[in-house]
Parts: sequence; structure tokens; C-alpha cells
Amino acid sequence: MTDQGHHRAEQIDCLIVGGGPAGLAAATYLGRFRRRVVLFDAGESRAKLIPITRNCPGFPNGLSGPDLLNRLRQQALLSGAELRDEAVQDIKRDGSEFIAAGPTSVRARAVLLATGVVDTLPDIPLATDMIRGGTMRLCPICDGYEVIDKRVAVMGPLKEAVKKASFMRTYTRDLTVLATDGACRMDDCSGPLREAGIRVEACIPNSLRPLGEHAIVVLSGGATGAFDAIYPAMGCRTGAKFGIDLGATCDDLGYLIVDAHQRTVVPGLYAAGDVVNEINQIAVAFGDAAIAATDIHNQLADTNHGFRH
Ligand SMILES: Cc1cc2nc3c(=O)[nH]c(=O)nc-3n(C[C@H](O)[C@H](O)[C@H](O)COP(=O)(O)OP(=O)(O)OC[C@H]3O[C@@H](n4cnc5c(N)ncnc54)[C@H](O)[C@@H]3O)c2cc1C
Repeated sequence: MTDQGHHRAEQIDCLIVGGGPAGLAAATYLGRFRRRVVLFDAGESRAKLIPITRNCPGFPNGLSGPDLLNRLRQQALLSGAELRDEAVQDIKRDGSEFIAAGPTSVRARAVLLATGVVDTLPDIPLATDMIRGGTMRLCPICDGYEVIDKRVAVMGPLKEAVKKASFMRTYTRDLTVLATDGACRMDDCSGPLREAGIRVEACIPNSLRPLGEHAIVVLSGGATGAFDAIYPAMGCRTGAKFGIDLGATCDDLGYLIVDAHQRTVVPGLYAAGDVVNEINQIAVAFGDAAIAATDIHNQLADTNHGFRH
């Protein structure tokens, strides 16, 4: 970014990076606090993939992720926030402020990172179709209730897959762990797993495919396994990079560390939603956003020259 670019950057109160539930909810709060707020979004919210969410508070009959995002965008716009469908490419500190550059640039007194996470999925062309069809599911907390008593498999490195499969015991007794880290037999697994009745098979992850209402996978011995739903347990990549580059800290899994006000250790830099939170829930994203936006507003009101910690 050139000095000339800095001078051209439009002055705002708060930049929000990310237009998923966390960023959009924060935009609504800050707009209603009468702040000059601009939200940049690259358009890849995980919520876009939700066929129907049934645990989002306030929607007893459920709603689709795209419908939820449309409602949140409308609400943010009505509150006076500006939404730009642009990816931020760079954020730098300039004194107590931040300068962010994408196709357009802004100079902001505060920044909220709501950049989410990107799931690691089996490398197959039909992954998105399987998610939309419900044969591949990503979030047992969200939709384990929808697979009660069904044939469910969890696919991933043994340790992570066993953790997720144990959670799924609440919903079904027909559970298989599809281990992707080498051959593995039931005998190899610990007593509690055996007692819980969780089968363990080694599989070829990229052999996964939909077949009608089922998911099919080739086991390492060559046989085929069929399931009503497969949950990958293959981890994710967090959107923490801007935070790290600016001096914020991360935990071992790559989530940004924030305090009870959603502040990172960098004055004026906040984070909310999946990028700070392994539980990855819409309701949590909303809560984080409300806390962050209120603290940003209060800090901006208290200080004319930047953020105190
Ligand atoms: C299949 C599926 C089903 C789910 N079901 C449920 C459910 O039923 N209930 C529930 O509570 N949760 C559910 N979730 C989880 C839920 O979608 C997430 O918890 C929620 O979307 C997190 O919101 P967020 O705003 O933190 O991140 P996201 O919604 O992921 O939004 C992050 C945004 O930041 C943008 N971004 C990243 N980098 C940049 C950049 N450099 N510049 C500009 N923008 C950027 C991304 O493009 C994206 O739009 C589900 C998730 C999936 C994938």
C-alpha cells in the first residue's frame, strides 16, 4: 500500500471483515449505534451451505442458510451499515488506526474480524452437493438431531473421528468411524470405544460419493460401506491471518484468542464468530457480535485518539 493510497482511504469508525452471521449481526448493532461502519465480504459464509437450520433460535420451523444471510444483510442495511462484496487483501496499522485495502480501501478506528473458518473436506467433486443433500454433514451440534437412529459414519484421523463419533452416541447406536490415517481394526481400539459399540474401519476418503439418499465409501479392504450420513472430522483452517499479522494471538488450533469483550491483544482489533470459537454456532456468532459491537461503540465514545486496554 502506498502513502498516496493511505491518504485516499475513506475514514470510518469500524471495519468489519466477513459477512456471515457474526459480521452481519455486528454491522446491525454498530449501525444502530450510529457508527460509520463498512463490512467487506468475500461471499463464502459457511452458512451458505446450510440446507436448513433447526437450532437457530427464533425459527421453530427452521430456515435455510441463504435465507438467514439475506435477512441479516437486509437488517444491516436498514441499520445504516454499508456492505461491500469485496475481499480485504491487506490490513495495516497506522498509528492507533487501521488501513485496509481490497478493491477499495478504508481507514478505520476499529476492526472486527469475523472471517470464519474453512472446513477441510474429502477431495471429491460432489462434496457441496452431498452437503446440500444431507448425506455429508459437518456439524453434529447443529444437526445430529436429524439423524436419530440412522446409519452414521464419522470420517477422519482416528483420534478426531472418535471424538465426534462419541458425541453422536446421543443420537444413534449405528455408528462407524472411518479412519483415514492407515489401517485400523476394532481390536486396536480402546475398551470404551468397543463398549460403546462404535465400529472402526479404515477407508479411502476420496472414494466417498452419493448414491440416492445414501453416502457410499470404499473401505481399505475393497468392500463398500453405505451410510445415511457421513460427518468428516478432518479439521478446518481458521481465518485468523489478518489477526496474526497484526500481532493478535491464537490457540493451538488456530482460533484467535479474545477476552470477555471480544478484544484481541491488539488495541482496537476485535474478533467474533467461528474464527474465535471451536463450537461454530450461529447463536454464538450473534452473541460474540453483540458483545464486540457494544464494546467497540463504548470505546470509540470514550476515546478520541484510539483504543485503551
Ligand atoms: C453444512 C453446515 C451446516 C451448519 N448448520 C448449522 C446449524 O444448523 N446451526 C448453527 O448454529 N450453525 C450451523 N453451521 C455453522 C454456521 O454456519 C457457522 O457457525 C456460522 O456461519 C459462523 O458465522 P461467522 O460469521 O463466524 O463465519 P462465516 O459464516 O463462515 O462467515 C465468514 C465470512 O468471512 C468472509 N471472509 C473471510 N476472509 C475474508 C476477507 N479477507 N475479506 C472479506 N471477507 C472475508 C468469508 O467469505 C465469509 O463470508 C453449519 C455450518 C455448515 C457448513
